[in-house]
Amino acid sequence: MADDVLLLYDEAMLRHDPGQAHPEQPARLGAVHHALTENPVPGARWGVPKPATRESIERIHSAAHIDRVESVRGQTAALDVDTVVSPGSVEAAYLGVGAAIDAVTAVVNGDAQRAFALVRPPGHHAEHDRAMGFCLFNNIAIAAAHARDRLGCERILIVDWDVHHGNGTQQAFYGDPNVLFFSTHQHPLYPGTGASDEVGAADGTGYTVNVPLPPGFGDAEYTAIFQQILVSIADSFAPDLVLVSAGFDAHRDDPIGSMEVTDAGFAFLCAMVRDIADRHANGRLALILEGGYNAPALARSVRACIEVLAGSTPQQPDGEGDARANEILNLIRAVHASAWPV
Ligand code: ZN
Repeated sequence: MADDVLLLYDEAMLRHDPGQAHPEQPARLGAVHHALTENPVPGARWGVPKPATRESIERIHSAAHIDRVESVRGQTAALDVDTVVSPGSVEAAYLGVGAAIDAVTAVVNGDAQRAFALVRPPGHHAEHDRAMGFCLFNNIAIAAAHARDRLGCERILIVDWDVHHGNGTQQAFYGDPNVLFFSTHQHPLYPGTGASDEVGAADGTGYTVNVPLPPGFGDAEYTAIFQQILVSIADSFAPDLVLVSAGFDAHRDDPIGSMEVTDAGFAFLCAMVRDIADRHANGRLALILEGGYNAPALARSVRACIEVLAGSTPQQPDGEGDARANEILNLIRAVHASAWPV
């Protein structure tokens, strides 16, 4: 029998419309929803998120930033060069945060085995005091802070496999040893942060793990990095909750990223993370949607991950991988050897 997977979604999130020329189109999430309703994944069921409260957003964002977002409710405006809002955007942003919080709450309380918050706008670039990179509020960071402050979680692992660095999430927990942030990202690429020597600060030193990657890496390289770095560190950290900033712009068909990950590759990454959650966190795992700008590839990859959340066992991708992956593995080991058994 399939495992129970909660999918958080509200069609009001399609009413965030940054304009026709913008890559972060409503049709992205529309394609995901369509793929999952046309051909449902056994075990997956739908839930409607509640909008987040201001109090929960204030765990990560300044009052001034929340006021700025509130000030454009019902309007068309630009909060940043590439972060544009339409009349439905602010409502969508509150629902996106709410979906992330509801996903985490469901898995921690045992109301679902695993969950996927299917949201837009995305969140991982949003910083304490500003919107940026298509993101208004940092959905995953707010959900992690909620889990820590309200649900009693003490060691939260955030895996960010979006092709861009999750600068906002890193910033939120840079000094926090209770939240371990692990990110693979193309580098150099927007937003420019995420060098391997960004490892956290003060008590949080070692609890930020950045793995910058050259263009062209695909399933074999990502699998090696997850197996040899992420799994080792996660097994030592022993999280009691695992979250994923699940962006799919490292897909080979993506128009923004220059990576080569396939639908099956994402499924295998998801399975490795699921197994970490099963070993340490009593299975508590929630994915939060981030980027992914080829709508059909996004829909297929999200569906492949949901099948894994429902208990399927994907094949390990074969292939040797690029020799540069070994250099990167050695570099990351050298940076983190004093903190982790890598
Ligand atoms: Zn991205």
